[in-house]
Amino acid sequence: MEDNEQLITEETEISFKDMDLSPEVLGALKKMGVKRPTTVQQKAIPLLMDNMSLIAKAPTGTGKTFAFSIPILEYLNMNASFVQALILCPTRELALQITSEIKGLARQIKGFNACAIIGGQSMNVQKEKLAKKPQVVVATPGRLLDLAARKMIDISNIYTLVLDEADEMLKMGFIKDIKRIMAITPGDKQIALFSATMPREILDITWQFMEGAAEIDVMPKAEDHPDIDEYVVYIPEKDKLDAIVKILDEQKLRKAIVFCNTKMQTEKVTDKLIARGISCKLLHGSIGQGTRNRVMDAYRKDKFDVLVATDVVARGIDVDDIEAVFNYDIPTENEFYLHRIGRTARAGKSGKAFSLVAFKERDRMEQIVRYTSCDPEEYTINQ
Ligand code: ADP
Ligand code: MG
Repeated sequence: MEDNEQLITEETEISFKDMDLSPEVLGALKKMGVKRPTTVQQKAIPLLMDNMSLIAKAPTGTGKTFAFSIPILEYLNMNASFVQALILCPTRELALQITSEIKGLARQIKGFNACAIIGGQSMNVQKEKLAKKPQVVVATPGRLLDLAARKMIDISNIYTLVLDEADEMLKMGFIKDIKRIMAITPGDKQIALFSATMPREILDITWQFMEGAAEIDVMPKAEDHPDIDEYVVYIPEKDKLDAIVKILDEQKLRKAIVFCNTKMQTEKVTDKLIARGISCKLLHGSIGQGTRNRVMDAYRKDKFDVLVATDVVARGIDVDDIEAVFNYDIPTENEFYLHRIGRTARAGKSGKAFSLVAFKERDRMEQIVRYTSCDPEEYTINQ
């Protein structure tokens, strides 16, 4: 790791060509218009291709998906028909997104197949997908274990296990599932953890199964850091909705996400925004999977302007040209703030984030400012 740190200084930029990639992957990158690797890609790809296990922390929107997907594609055995890489992530939307990104990257690799295994999908559909013998599976942990228990999927031969949004995956809600997945996969597999946040207490857990792993910490000061203008708006709770409408108007913002802390709040806010003529839809974890997919699809295709959501879309979701993120409620966990605002300003673009802070949320916001070392400017709405 130390050697590598020295190798990759600010001055020595590594190109995709320097990475010994196959013509298929280079061709796909070229087709997608991806020219130079981001900092996390420059650092992570060579280590992963060297079969190292890795803990990688890098800011939102800086290309972590390609950083773990490219090495996987380079190491696939196309003559074998078992699952060779398993990518785990916390939400269904993210699993579908990663699957489609990896398929895009593998478009020139003959015989390649990847599939998403997620809750809310019928067993028959998943059976059909698995019958096509995917080399790469992207999954949410619960459903994967379910299929493994029914012997519908065999993950006992994987080479690589990726935990995307790793800190979330190692928290209370998921850690049990992750440990079980660790136990039914090979002991000598390569493990790669990726996230924009990695709290100390979570990092401590990783020693149990990742002793000797390399570590990468791409600081937000790297040149490809997200360019987000952050604002706080001190405002009574009851005026928050008006504030969003006014800010959208006076800042000439269109495509935005409004984050709420509860499902009920997303419903209230959506109704009120619609009543004010804003084209918006809502998304939370209790909505049926079919509808969830349709809403995400429509949002990606720009069919409506404002997505009102819980933290189910706070992590990892990559939608083009989101101009602004609003925190209607201030998030309950510090990391959530970084993930939420990171839905804008992706891949070198810029964006704005507005946190609407009611009196009772001031302390919470102060904690977030301290934790993230962000320096949001106070925003005053024109009367
Ligand atoms: P992260 O996981 O770090 O939040 P993603 O992997 O979702 O970020 O990537 C964010 C966006 O950047 C995606 O739309 C992706 O296609 C694009 N991207 C990835 N790598 C590059 C690159 N080297 N150059 C330009 N765009 C890239
Ligand atoms: Mg990501």
